[in-house]
Amino acid sequence: MRAMVLDKPRRSLQLRDVETPRPAKGQLLVQIATCAVCRTDLHVVDGELPDPKLPLIPGHQIVGRVEEIGEEANSKFKVGDRVGIPWLGWTDGDCVYCRSNRENLCDRAKFTGYTIDGGYAEFVVADARFCFHLPEQYDDVDVAPLLCAGMLGYRSYRKTGDAHRLGIYGFGNAARLITQIAIYEGREIFAFTRPGDKTGQESARKLGTAWAGGSDEMPPEKLDAAIIFAPVGALVPAALRALAKGGSVVCGGIHMSDIPSFPYVELWGERAICSVANLTRRDGEEFLDIAPRVPVRTETETFPLEEANTALGRFRSGELSGTAVLLISDHPGDR
Ligand SMILES: [Zn+2]
Ligand SMILES: [Zn+2]
Repeated sequence: MRAMVLDKPRRSLQLRDVETPRPAKGQLLVQIATCAVCRTDLHVVDGELPDPKLPLIPGHQIVGRVEEIGEEANSKFKVGDRVGIPWLGWTDGDCVYCRSNRENLCDRAKFTGYTIDGGYAEFVVADARFCFHLPEQYDDVDVAPLLCAGMLGYRSYRKTGDAHRLGIYGFGNAARLITQIAIYEGREIFAFTRPGDKTGQESARKLGTAWAGGSDEMPPEKLDAAIIFAPVGALVPAALRALAKGGSVVCGGIHMSDIPSFPYVELWGERAICSVANLTRRDGEEFLDIAPRVPVRTETETFPLEEANTALGRFRSGELSGTAVLLISDHPGDR
């Protein structure tokens, strides 16, 4: 099968013919239709996350069809079913975190497109227990960004509890998906973009945000919570300053630059800072349940598999107008 392979961080991916994997016990072999590109893919390729599997096939927002089912695989799928494969690829089911409904924190977790091979390829194997059925309303392209930007964004959003005035710093894909759900649920959204990004602010307002401005500005009212999706540590104290007492700042990214120091008085008043790590299967299921009811819409830009480096490059430089989605196959059956 054809795959885009990372041999070493900070190198371009190489288009290569590699052996098609075989489904082991409990796994599905999936013929991939599309794979959306996530910021985490960039962090992996750029060497910002420790110890990736190498060589590695990146990609963890995978949409495809079941081609073959390994022994003892979860019976919720049959050959030909459409499946979504997310970032959380495997957990031990046995550690203190797994046993307390926090499998996202599992000590031995494996992650698709990071510590196990992912979706920048024609086929992938995945543990059936971690795969999702996908809502029919979405086609293979539109549904792909829901699998990480959507699910992880949703977990970050849920961490804000019942915050009514919600700030979002870094108004990219995850922010746009979550904004639609938050407005549907009656929240007010305050969108923070890069200072001076008038186009970004305008498009946030079009989604129905109560306010949009630069991350160097203060919102017109104090916020009950803020989510930071941009990988910029300096936004943490900025967001804290925009919070009302008792509010929290939720850091939704897997990697962030260092957080500058700030006076304790800005945290005082029971303000809190926390991060969101990975997702649980339950987050994924809840999100896929609510998304079609809103309905959450995605904006995408497609690239053929062999242009994954172009997609990553344009993501890195902020030139994408929607989520990049790799188009891999639209005619299941031939291998
Ligand atoms: Zn565990
Ligand atoms: Zn991701």
